[in-house]
Amino acid sequence: MEFRDLKKQYAVLKDEIDKGILNVIESASFIQGKEVKELEEKLAAYVGVKHCVTCANGTDALQIALMTWGIGEGDVVFVPDFTFFSSGEVVSSVGATPIFVDVERDTFNISPIALRNMITKVISNGGKPRVIIAVDLFGQPANYVELRKIADEYGLLILEDGAQGFGGSINEKKACSFGDISTTSFFPAKPLGCYGDGGAIFTDNDEWASLIRSYCVHGKGSSKYDNIRIGMNSRLDTIQAAVLLAKLDQFINYEMKKMQEIAAWYTKELEGVVQTPIIKQGYESSWAQYSILLKDAIERESLMKYMKNKGIPIAIYYQKPMHKQTAFKFGGNDIDYPVTNMLVDVVLSLPIHPYIEIDEINYIIESIKGALLQE
Ligand SMILES: *Cc1c(COP(=O)(O)O)cnc(C)c1O
Repeated sequence: MEFRDLKKQYAVLKDEIDKGILNVIESASFIQGKEVKELEEKLAAYVGVKHCVTCANGTDALQIALMTWGIGEGDVVFVPDFTFFSSGEVVSSVGATPIFVDVERDTFNISPIALRNMITKVISNGGKPRVIIAVDLFGQPANYVELRKIADEYGLLILEDGAQGFGGSINEKKACSFGDISTTSFFPAKPLGCYGDGGAIFTDNDEWASLIRSYCVHGKGSSKYDNIRIGMNSRLDTIQAAVLLAKLDQFINYEMKKMQEIAAWYTKELEGVVQTPIIKQGYESSWAQYSILLKDAIERESLMKYMKNKGIPIAIYYQKPMHKQTAFKFGGNDIDYPVTNMLVDVVLSLPIHPYIEIDEINYIIESIKGALLQE
């Protein structure tokens, strides 16, 4: 059994994917070939935003968004304490200060209440808040209604880190459309993955879109040999664009629907045994992860051992709060992060992907019940 079985997906889509890759090789347009533009148009249409600019990975996508807004030294950027390292790393990369914010227990996403408290604290200490990075953790979009109110109140920009959220929605409005700029990742194990690294940046703003295009290609002006700002070399390879084009229809029309069924089955069978994921009314998750909560660290430890013996791959996202990462010299006061501190001890992610068999899911469910209901 695989945690996320990419080989099964390839077996289903082999003809389209092979053809797409071969076409690129034969055309020899490896950089910025026509597939890249075609993909950007399709992604923008699917998400429902005006501009999509692809880039080398989801981390660059976040960093380029911050560069586009001129975020740097002296600026404060709010980041959830419970997320993948990238969400905060990029803030330090551009020289700004990440301030971590606790999350909600139910959704794992940035807590609007904790955010408000942190903003007040930063302002009273003379700090200069500029951006809220909201992460759609495990696939469920953050609470953008509340976040937008807070952003408007304090004049902040919202950067949606949709690396895990791509494919999810709130009242039919798609993830990666909620930020002033939004980003995603096409890392192979993400909801929509390519065969290497890849990322994309989304915005409705024309001026930012052209700045983003410039930052992605060495700060280009009229051409890449006319350089009007310091940028990066961050482009999506044409081969990766071809892989994504070959996968996109299946992702939209089959995989996202299938994932809803699989998650619903898990939840129906595991309710009352463990704390199952809570998806809010009107929200749809892309199910980047199906993450349960155990009673305590001891219960999680013994369940993990049991699952390992049964040959079931499991993972802990995430083991360490951002405020405790060594790389951030001053991450924050531990007392400000009660929920994240609790989650890192009890969270556990189960295998989930669109090609998992019902027998496999039932085996996982029976194993969990066997381990926890036995005593
Ligand atoms: C994966 C991920 C990223 C980074 O994406 P890469 O393409 O690996 O650089 C950023 N944020 C979150 C929340 C992620 O899960």
